[in-house]
Amino acid sequence: MWTDRNLPFRELVDAAPDGLIVCDPQGKITLVNAEAERMFGYARDELLGQPIETLIPQRSRPGHQQHLAEYTAAPRLRPMGSELDLRGYRKDGSEFPVEISLSPIKTERGLLITAGIRDVTDRRQLERDNKRANAYLVSAVDAVQEAFTLYDEHDRVLMVNSAARLLLGSSAAGSIVGRRFDEVLGAALSSGVFDFSNETRETLYQRWLAYHQAPSGTLEVRTGTGRYLRVTECKTADQGTVSTIADVTDDVLRADELGQARETAEAASAAKSEFLSSMSHELRTPLNAILGFAQLLERDRKRPLDDRQLERLGHVLRGGEHLLRLIDDVLDLSQIEARRITVSSEPVGLAEVLTEVVHTLEPMATRAQIHLEIAAIPPALPRVIADRTRLAQILMNFGSNAIKYGRTGGHVTFRVEPRGELLRIAVIDDGIGIPEDKRDKIFEPFQRAGQEVGPIEGTGIGLTISKRLAELMSGSIGFASQVGRGSEFWIELAVHRAPTSEQVGIPAAQLATSPLAAGAFAHTIVYVEDNPANLAFMRELIEELTSVRLLTAPSAEIGLEIIRTHRPAVVIMDINLPGMSGFEAVKHLREWPETRDIPVIGLSAAALVKDTTRAKEAGFYRYLTKPVKVAELTRTLEELLIGPAAPR
Ligand code: ADP
Repeated sequence: MWTDRNLPFRELVDAAPDGLIVCDPQGKITLVNAEAERMFGYARDELLGQPIETLIPQRSRPGHQQHLAEYTAAPRLRPMGSELDLRGYRKDGSEFPVEISLSPIKTERGLLITAGIRDVTDRRQLERDNKRANAYLVSAVDAVQEAFTLYDEHDRVLMVNSAARLLLGSSAAGSIVGRRFDEVLGAALSSGVFDFSNETRETLYQRWLAYHQAPSGTLEVRTGTGRYLRVTECKTADQGTVSTIADVTDDVLRADELGQARETAEAASAAKSEFLSSMSHELRTPLNAILGFAQLLERDRKRPLDDRQLERLGHVLRGGEHLLRLIDDVLDLSQIEARRITVSSEPVGLAEVLTEVVHTLEPMATRAQIHLEIAAIPPALPRVIADRTRLAQILMNFGSNAIKYGRTGGHVTFRVEPRGELLRIAVIDDGIGIPEDKRDKIFEPFQRAGQEVGPIEGTGIGLTISKRLAELMSGSIGFASQVGRGSEFWIELAVHRAPTSEQVGIPAAQLATSPLAAGAFAHTIVYVEDNPANLAFMRELIEELTSVRLLTAPSAEIGLEIIRTHRPAVVIMDINLPGMSGFEAVKHLREWPETRDIPVIGLSAAALVKDTTRAKEAGFYRYLTKPVKVAELTRTLEELLIGPAAPR
């Protein structure tokens, strides 16, 4: 049978992971195992028979004999892990921390004492490292300005920094660590720190508790001194909770200030827009007279001007038109900047818009001796999503630039190209081109790419407006250019996906300029206008159209009477009238059966988009802005009196 007597004793002792030393009651060493040899740096024979004090630092030796005597008198098992700071003393004189367990063994030769010795150098180092890391953590958390609290999985405070102690614990007697969250919160809310003018203590308590239980986002609370606190909590992986409370008063106040500043700025911007709008009215009324009468002078058949006078008049007209464009552009830009304009998104047929644009540009092109054309439009062309009027405005801008900066005898071509889900409408010229170093600023307001010193008139705002409008319509614009060879400006817009019947190209004949038809009809037109200069201008204009009789009224009230009595073929109505406005007047006309079908042309100096929209909604046949363009007015009248299908 296998018994412990058979165990190879020496090997067993040497296999022990701890050092093992046995000594007699006098402290003489009688057994040393391999680990003890390694630990103290002695060979076994050097230690056997030596006093145990050999292995103890010099300073601890004097009292040791005494300890030994006491232990021998009352021997007992003393396990490891004592809090004593015991040290081993190596042969080379170095020391190391040890833990020692003592056990007495009674033998025939008397009492022996066994010491199990463990080198705890590594563990002590680890403990020191841990302690240091912990101290770092505590001081770091304490240095955080926000109140920081860590709750364990039982919702008890595990760690808290000074700021949190100040905020939450000022009224809590004793340490805050170890308390439950609801206790801490209750005490904090009773401390008088928080503001209860907007909600009761109980409501805040419940609100905070609910947030703590399922934190999402942040929780805002106010202190009695008017500070704003933001509580942010999140759960830790082991079901604890981290809570921080930050003072965000400065942020809140700054946001308030910003909000107020924005309101003030918006109010100022609105005031600026209103100012520009009324200013434009004031500027356009005298311009109306200047341009209107200048045009009449120019075409006066009874007393035609001589060449010299015509040339000078030409300067007046061009200067006036330039001023008008400038007023319109500045107004438009200020409206866009103030985000006061809205654009519609509707399916727009490009053939129609291009015809209209080219038709309008034709006289300008003829004057500049430039050939204007629309390249063949691809078959089955879909419509685009855009604001019809604004798209026309952009294309007019591209087109008039192409003519202005074009070459005498040259060409300007409007071309439509499908590009995936987009359609590109390009305006191509063979003109002067744009110098490379000027190209990056071309869309900025008042930048004229070197043309500010040239003879070609312009404001430098057209492309800025075009770009902003294109963006408002979710489109984009761009260009390519070569100095001396020409430029290509384009706009790209999204395609309208619904099937469309508008798939035809534009017959070339349609592009021919329309000659003003001299109607052989007798028609009555009523013009409602309070400004005598405008009335005089219209009278002279209509005089030229021999088939038309003009009746005028200085106010809407009188105008309505005249219209009801005479039932004219067309009414021309100023919008800004004393007393009843043009809008109100047209409303009445639409209500009465005898006047319901009479087309009314609205005339106004305010070129603001919102007015255009209002005019259309109010039931005007068309809306013309002052100063009246003679050709535009006569064309509209022609359309109404002879019919839209009239040969051109
Ligand atoms: P402007 O009223 O000066 O024409 P725009 O904003 O329409 O203002 O255009 C800005 C500048 O871009 C113009 O002054 C001109 O130098 C340049 N530009 C625009 N279109 C063309 C073009 N087709 N060919 C050459 N230069 C052009």
